[in-house]
Amino acid sequence: MPDHSSNLLVEKFLRNRREFLRDAAGMALGSALLPTSMFGRSGVEQKKRKVVVVTFGGGARDQETFAPEGQENIPTMMRELLPQSSFFTQVINQGILGHYVATASLATGVYETFNNFAATPPESPTVFEYFRKDLKRPSSDAWVVAPSNGFNRIGESSHRLYGPGLGARVILPKHLLKAATSGEKNFENLLRDNYETPLYAPELSGNNFEMQQLAELLKLSLDDFKAHALTLSSPDELSVYIARQLMRQVAPSLLWITLHDIDIAHAGAFSLYLDGIRRSDRLCADIWKTIQSEPEYKDKTNMFILPDFGRDADEDAGGNGFQHHRTGDALSRTTWLLVMGPGIREGVVYDRRLQSTDLVPTIGSLMGFSAALSSGKLIQEVL
Ligand SMILES: [Zn+2]
Repeated sequence: MPDHSSNLLVEKFLRNRREFLRDAAGMALGSALLPTSMFGRSGVEQKKRKVVVVTFGGGARDQETFAPEGQENIPTMMRELLPQSSFFTQVINQGILGHYVATASLATGVYETFNNFAATPPESPTVFEYFRKDLKRPSSDAWVVAPSNGFNRIGESSHRLYGPGLGARVILPKHLLKAATSGEKNFENLLRDNYETPLYAPELSGNNFEMQQLAELLKLSLDDFKAHALTLSSPDELSVYIARQLMRQVAPSLLWITLHDIDIAHAGAFSLYLDGIRRSDRLCADIWKTIQSEPEYKDKTNMFILPDFGRDADEDAGGNGFQHHRTGDALSRTTWLLVMGPGIREGVVYDRRLQSTDLVPTIGSLMGFSAALSSGKLIQEVL
């Protein structure tokens, strides 16, 4: 459990951040506003609504993002996205701080407890299964773009009431690129699979699509794909490129994009960690621009951006500052959530404490399905 002094540290960060957001981004402080109607305020029918979730991963701290001293690293979110957003300053992750298990927990609305470094599906139903089962949607309507082979089972749980055949299609862009380039040297910077344990690289199985089929679906010729990949500087850029193709060609209603470049922090170079944050900042704005420029998405899509978790505090003797996320201290568990799109109050900051598990039931309420087995609560402020 976090000790008293680290709780005080978190309090200090939150206070600073709140005041900063009000001053610098002109945000208003939201109170416990009640939803105005049970059908929401947006005028978008539930069945036409789309949701895009972006995890600002893997693992960024407050002091390099929304705390006053971090804002220079996220200029695009500060200037372009925040004024159009409802922003929640306290999202607490009480689960295991490993990227796959934490992202799976975000996707199930339950703190999953499986081994982070195992090729295992989530135990509780995912948001994709609730969505597809309740609303009778085809598999083409729910997709995940995931950063590493270790995430290949995230689309579908092992739950007996849901599970096989009801999950999302999972694209692993690096796997796709590797198959397309069969070991060519030029792509090494895009193909690094895992920043934490280079030894863990599961064999792929499950519902990830066959390479050729996917390329056809996305209208990607292998030559175009390879040529474009050479212009990209990071795995997350590759993921966003694939996500954009997917939005144009398939236009799924539920799309989950997991960014992961920030986790290069494990290599120990602070400058690379900051580069990852700055790139993620730019990519989040790019995704929003794509949403608002594609007719299938424009004005009917809510975007949720949130980190999977934070990183250790510099002050914590058991941690190693930005480099790792090992202590489970209060800072590494305290993140944020930014929500945009129709029906969302713009330029409002909320201090109420949320849980990471609140995301899934809230998406359910926006799209008209029930996340029956999630332990999270509705985020009423965005409904
Ligand atoms: Zn990590």
